[in-house]
Amino acid sequence: MRRFNFYQFADYETPSLKLLHNPDVTVRSRGVMEKCTYCVQRINTAKIQAEKENRVVRDGEIVTACQAVCPAQAIIFGNINDPKSRVAQAKAEPRNYGLLEDLNTRPRTSYLARLRNPNPELESAS
Ligand code: SF4
Repeated sequence: MRRFNFYQFADYETPSLKLLHNPDVTVRSRGVMEKCTYCVQRINTAKIQAEKENRVVRDGEIVTACQAVCPAQAIIFGNINDPKSRVAQAKAEPRNYGLLEDLNTRPRTSYLARLRNPNPELESAS
């Protein structure tokens, strides 16, 4: 999702508010277009740590902020180029779909369709 900052929400002046800011995340000004970065600061932290330990980033090692706070654990993040990763396996499911894929948008974020049975007769038979 993209979002345009029409207003100046960032307060750079109040000293006590400076403590609120995450030093790893830039505070964007008015006039800036916002877009999900897949928490690039978390990705880079994990990549640097893996490089220090001379290994590859493990599946599930990078947890985005929205993934971390989702109580339903509805968000999976990982390397889609690794066929064994959880996210690649979810993407391979027939329920997987992306928005406007028919326009060849090729979005990185995709969704799993919800399964439900709208037929009450079938529901009572089970
Ligand atoms: S918290 Fe979620 S929506 Fe926000 S930048 Fe990170 S991955 Fe994107």
